[in-house]
Amino acid sequence: MDKENVVSKNFIEKIIDEDLAQGKYTKIATRFPPEPNGYLHIGHAKSILLNYGLAKKYNGTFNLRFDDTNPMKEKTEFVESIVSDVEWLGAQYDGDIKFASNYFDQMYEAAVLLIKKGKAYVCDLSPEQIKEYRGTLTEPGKDSPYRNRSVEENLDLFERMKNGEFEDGSKVLRAKIDMASSNINMRDPIIYRVARMTHHNTGDKWCIYPMYDFAHPIEDAIEGITHSICTLEFEDHRPLYDWVVQEVGYEHPPKQIEFAKLYLTNVITGKRYIKRLVDEGIVDGWDDPRLVTIAALRRRGFTPESIKDFMELIGVTKSNSSNDYAMLEYCIRNDLKPKAPRVMAVLDPIKLVIDNYPEGEVEYLDAMVNMENPDLGYEKVPFERELWIEREDFMEEPPKKYFRLFPGNEVRLMNAYFVKCVSYEKDENGKVTVVHCTYDPETKNGTGFTGRKVKGTIHWVPVHHCKKVTARLYENLVDEEKGVYNEDGSLNLNPNSLTVIEDCYVEPAIEKYKPGDSFQFVRNGYFCIDTKDTTEDHLVFNRIVSLKSSFKLPKK
Ligand code: ATP
Ligand code: MG
Repeated sequence: MDKENVVSKNFIEKIIDEDLAQGKYTKIATRFPPEPNGYLHIGHAKSILLNYGLAKKYNGTFNLRFDDTNPMKEKTEFVESIVSDVEWLGAQYDGDIKFASNYFDQMYEAAVLLIKKGKAYVCDLSPEQIKEYRGTLTEPGKDSPYRNRSVEENLDLFERMKNGEFEDGSKVLRAKIDMASSNINMRDPIIYRVARMTHHNTGDKWCIYPMYDFAHPIEDAIEGITHSICTLEFEDHRPLYDWVVQEVGYEHPPKQIEFAKLYLTNVITGKRYIKRLVDEGIVDGWDDPRLVTIAALRRRGFTPESIKDFMELIGVTKSNSSNDYAMLEYCIRNDLKPKAPRVMAVLDPIKLVIDNYPEGEVEYLDAMVNMENPDLGYEKVPFERELWIEREDFMEEPPKKYFRLFPGNEVRLMNAYFVKCVSYEKDENGKVTVVHCTYDPETKNGTGFTGRKVKGTIHWVPVHHCKKVTARLYENLVDEEKGVYNEDGSLNLNPNSLTVIEDCYVEPAIEKYKPGDSFQFVRNGYFCIDTKDTTEDHLVFNRIVSLKSSFKLPKK
């Protein structure tokens, strides 16, 4: 077999293979369990694609479940955005969307069962006291004076907690495990608290809510999840996860497996930070194209394929490290290269006049839509006497090795003719305003002209047959080398993260496309028509990525 096609399995796949071989499970079931308290980001995409990918690979099932057990920060807006992001990534979930809050009854029952088994008790210590009694990493904790309440008393108190007889925070239900455990998570963790909060799904039905470490394993077990994949910071919680599923008595308990979170250089992940940028108006909402929320990546013009390719390149590991943002850019370039139509657009225009081309005449020239993909066919481009070219494609006094336009030099106009610079005009500030050329009708593109050679080819847009658009160029919001944080802990933001170009000209072929479509603006990068700010009569483009790459795939 071709060596390069032997893809080694990641450590999670090895665990699953073993479990299946030993007959622990007959079919695997995974899930993605977001808390609906913000928009998903590129890190979540990793978790989604990992869980979905495993289910697909092993012919198992994949659930989308909202971990909505903390009503404080959760909102329906986030539920909707998360569903659409998961679908956009192509992760098809099985059955209905699940909500942890639909299991509140079962969680309550499980808590009652633990009380009956003598494995849970109601504790009246204040939050401060609980913390004090918990001990430290080096010292064991102390038993709560309420630890030995009778089963009957606990059952009665817990029911009254549910019925709203006690103040918020006045009583909690705790698992009775081991106050001397070397793992602090096992020192009688709180599993239920009194909190009068209206829940987006269950309304005011409950005034007690389960804690994450108790709720999560139960949610997994109820759904028959076999491999509960989470990130490394939960490693120390695994003994508690196992304790819960065992004590509640599930027959086929799920297994928790941890992997390293995705970190990317020069971007901001972490809901808390993104939320701050949104709340403080530093960015234009959760889908501002400078962010790496999934909504922002989509709006910027990233494709699900490019994100999948990226996740495959970086793999799944068990140790934390940072991945280069340039690698994600490499993936989107690679994906768009054969797919995206190539369009001529001038971002920094200067006028070029062809003195010997008849005034008022227009001819339609053939241009390949994408040189690397002949299947996309040809497009007609109008050509006329006055054209826009890039300011940087003309120089009055060029340095050595500058092959574009300068007085006396000849270049090829892409898909059109050779033109030779004969003169130029300047305004009172010395700024060049017009470049004059003559063209050679014999050099028309596609005529088989094999005469002289020119070293430079430049792109252009016809002045009277083009579309004026807005283009937005982006740089990363933060720069690792300059330091992501200031001394006071605030973010050290890049002041040049957004450049808006209002007078950008594009060839008229652009008119048949719609918001969300992507292009290569030749020589200028890949752009996408913005879905939010584009109107009927004005197109706004986001630059997805430039053409130049600072990243190379490591050689195998
Ligand atoms: P954040 O840290 O950004 O606030 P979170 O972990 O609080 O995110 P959840 O909604 O709780 O967000 O996460 C849903 C799932 O996504 C969890 O299983 C979590 O482990 C996973 N996840 C979150 N961030 C990353 C990341 N950077 N890389 C991989 N998986 C992640
Ligand atoms: Mg979380």
